[in-house]
Amino acid sequence: MSGKAEGGSADSDPNTAEFIGFEYHSDERVSPARYRWEGSSTRGWQIQREGAHHLDLGPGFRPLRSHRCGVCSTDLDRRFLPFPLPQIIGHEVIALDQVSRRHVVEINASHEARGIEHACPFCLGGLATHCPERRVLGIHDLPGGFGPWVLAPEAAIIPLPDSISDDAAVLIEPFAAALHAAESIAPSAGERVAVLGPRRLGLLVIAALAALRKRDGTDYKILGLVRRPSMADWALRFGADEVLQAPDPGSAAEPCAEFVIDTTGNPLGLETALMASGREVHLKSTHGQPSAGLRHTTELVVDELTLQAWPEDPDEAKAVVRDSPCRPDDRPRVAWLASTPPPAWLSDRADVWAGKDPNALLKALEDQPSGLPRADLAVVDDEAGIDAVVRPREDEEISLVRPRGQICTRAGGARTGPLLHALHQRKLRLSTSRCGDFEKALALLVADDELAQRLPALITHRVPATRLPEALALARTPECIKVVIEHAETQSLPGTQAD
Ligand SMILES: [Zn+2]
Ligand SMILES: [Zn+2]
Repeated sequence: MSGKAEGGSADSDPNTAEFIGFEYHSDERVSPARYRWEGSSTRGWQIQREGAHHLDLGPGFRPLRSHRCGVCSTDLDRRFLPFPLPQIIGHEVIALDQVSRRHVVEINASHEARGIEHACPFCLGGLATHCPERRVLGIHDLPGGFGPWVLAPEAAIIPLPDSISDDAAVLIEPFAAALHAAESIAPSAGERVAVLGPRRLGLLVIAALAALRKRDGTDYKILGLVRRPSMADWALRFGADEVLQAPDPGSAAEPCAEFVIDTTGNPLGLETALMASGREVHLKSTHGQPSAGLRHTTELVVDELTLQAWPEDPDEAKAVVRDSPCRPDDRPRVAWLASTPPPAWLSDRADVWAGKDPNALLKALEDQPSGLPRADLAVVDDEAGIDAVVRPREDEEISLVRPRGQICTRAGGARTGPLLHALHQRKLRLSTSRCGDFEKALALLVADDELAQRLPALITHRVPATRLPEALALARTPECIKVVIEHAETQSLPGTQAD
């Protein structure tokens, strides 16, 4: 795609860019559109699309030129996500500054990532990647790396060390997410962790587990659970010790590992993972579709929530409340939506909001003078209760429980759904995670040469940005693992007078 940009004054403020980029539409179609933006990182930005006003962005964004951008399952399934389309997508980006230095960009444009002044309880509370006012590069509003330019949140632009190749660097975003999953599972010596559906994300999870095991010397076993035999060699090559055939949904398979990480990107993956796991399923898929009787599995992952049964035993239930993820000096906030009344001891140990309407409880929490305007823990009856807590409002992408919070289900009568069966009869936990920490991922790559050499094998295809429709079609074929979009080096730069 063509693009040009003009520098303004010597401090490159204000500046403009004008370019044509491929947009993704709600019917999966991809077609070119003309964009123009104008502004500065201090004043904010106005974006025009096809000659009409499109988007106003506040301050804290810096224009960078796209260099490389990986294609992932989130891109292919973008139409199922609850953000406006059409959009220029692509979020696994290497971008260049005015003097062609390479950078990677953390995608959540929160108050903190933009480096602007704020009093946001999420950004201040260590939950910046969950800031409810964030936009997300290449996923929500912000034009992404499949186009020739991005507006990157300034405090989230990370320079790349020279020792990291383009091919390793373009995998930093998904590798950071894979590493986050591996670290939050943290298997102990002798335990088994299985990665279900190892492909473009799952192979990175296997590589992350293997790298952590090597670094920390914890001797756990890594299994690949595959459906297609051709993926077995891939899983072994990325660090799995053994590869097993994934059980069929609905079959009576025995668990094969304490932990199963579902990286299938497929709505059927969760049920398979529940069957294969003996203790905990970790969900990484954001396919945007219902699965295992839940409408909002993707939103569960986006908010990094955890599900488990509310224990019958009062001591175990007290431990769940004690360990709920509230801030150290606060009393836990519990939203009780189960049809049975809360136990008498609960109000001694937590602030309790009880009721039937999750929206009303959320409103009450929002009216609190301090703290996060969310519950730390919610207790519901069943799958419908989980969905209602995860998205209590039709028009807002927020949950009644805080990001990284917990939802417990109350056992009641015969449960037929696979999820509640696993939570109650088999005492499984369902944990989730989304993005990861780029600095940690980079540090591990810099320290582990073998890992930095291994990761680029994932890239099976490279396609010029001018042929994006072809690249997305290719990414949907079984022969392809990872497609990387390559931008030409010919565009001029905004504010070419370097300061
Ligand atoms: Zn991705
Ligand atoms: Zn914020």
